[in-house]
Amino acid sequence: MADYDYDLFVIGAGSGGVRAARLTALGGKKVAVAEEYRVGGTCVIRGCVPKKFMVMASEVSHALEIAEGYGWSFDNAKFDWPTFLEAKDVEIARLSGIYAANLGKAGVELVHGRAVLKDAHTVEIIGKNQTFTAEKILIATGGRPWKPESLPGIEHAITSEEAFHLPQLPKRILIAGGGYIAVEFAGIFAGLGVETTLIYRGPNILRGFDDDVRAHLAGEIEKRGIKVVLGCQHEKIEKTATGLVNHLENGMKLETDVVMFATGRIPHVKDLGLEAAGVELNDEGAIKVDPYSKTTADNIWAIGDVTDRMNLTPVAIREAVAFHQTVYRDNPQHFDYEAVATAVFSQPPVGVVGLSESEARRSCSAGVDVYVTRFRPMKYAFTGSEERVLMKLVVDAQSQRVVGVHIVGPDSPEMIQLAAIAVKAGLTKAQWDATCAVHPTMAEELVTLKEKQSGATSAG
Ligand code: NDP
Repeated sequence: MADYDYDLFVIGAGSGGVRAARLTALGGKKVAVAEEYRVGGTCVIRGCVPKKFMVMASEVSHALEIAEGYGWSFDNAKFDWPTFLEAKDVEIARLSGIYAANLGKAGVELVHGRAVLKDAHTVEIIGKNQTFTAEKILIATGGRPWKPESLPGIEHAITSEEAFHLPQLPKRILIAGGGYIAVEFAGIFAGLGVETTLIYRGPNILRGFDDDVRAHLAGEIEKRGIKVVLGCQHEKIEKTATGLVNHLENGMKLETDVVMFATGRIPHVKDLGLEAAGVELNDEGAIKVDPYSKTTADNIWAIGDVTDRMNLTPVAIREAVAFHQTVYRDNPQHFDYEAVATAVFSQPPVGVVGLSESEARRSCSAGVDVYVTRFRPMKYAFTGSEERVLMKLVVDAQSQRVVGVHIVGPDSPEMIQLAAIAVKAGLTKAQWDATCAVHPTMAEELVTLKEKQSGATSAG
């Protein structure tokens, strides 16, 4: 080590980079982390955390509707966007400060600036005339939004990054894409009273999710007032005196005030100097790593979204822990990507763990048993709401293990965290059913589902 400035130099102070840096410094190593923007990364600064605040702000409108059914009345209830933005930004600054303070407490040196690899052991901080050497380097630079740059007028479209800081709430917004970010922001804006249109090129939103979830959610978000246009893409975006006109391939023309593209995120590898360090990319443009997160350079590792394995904050944190255990604790570990629960904070939200029905049909040789229920949540009893909850269990017909749980409805992200324990533990349907219900709840349906969906057991 004497030959290097640091034992470990981490590039990127997001969830993964911060965890790896802290653990390693607490283990007695000399560690630095470089961050070009603010400590906290995508999750804290321009992702999960501010997004959840926006969801919570937006959900209030629905809560008020329910409240009126219960006899409450609200005169002049109104939402003020600048007040919300200010409160959100104060909290984000507080959280970012905590992240930075925790790095300091662990003894990690924070380097402000953009780090670029000069060779496998050297990083330069651009514009600061600073160069550091390190025995080992960890790349945790995350991802960044992608939009189709060849689309005429795309310069008028924003991404989720700008959506967090819109100077004023638009009257009309069009969101392109059908993934997590598109459906989450469609719900946010619709709940805040913005006339919202979602345009997705495929046959239904949330490709990769269970088909019942996709169909159910598409129907539910329409009930909340979102106009969903499927099987359709942009031809061009035209700026006029009154707004932005979206010209679609099917001939439709839709004028809005804001157009947001949520068409995916790509690994943040641009101008990182990877070639100089011998770090290769895979065919999708993500950093190529082995199961232990080691890159093609012997002393360089990469974790989180920059490796495009499973782009979720808790996964990046687990990859950081596994990296630390493998490299500094003589305890080789790799993260197990099976049965990772995920939530889409749409309105209503989605909670999922394990296999979709079609995935289970492909992997369970004796077929699957499927249990589905749709019902009106008790909370809506006085509101006349047509909203329904979907709960679905997918069970391996042979082992009787519950291999997939899919919920669309209020509190599903909270429920799925607990269901994930049972799925990860490989519990059988009989063991789920042996668990006594908590009444009256929505979650009790998960342990009282008796009717198999007819014709379910055949293998696909
Ligand atoms: P996703 O990959 O989830 O969705 C991208 C969407 O854009 C898809 O519907 C895709 O369509 C569509 N798309 C891609 N290219 C084009 C194109 N050229 N024209 C039109 N549509 C296109 O990405 P997101 O940006 O929504 O989110 C990125 C990742 O961030 C997620 O995958 C997730 O891992 C993570 N995330 C997690 C969240 C959570 O945990 N709650 C919240 C937000 C993000 P198609 O399906 O046809 O390819």
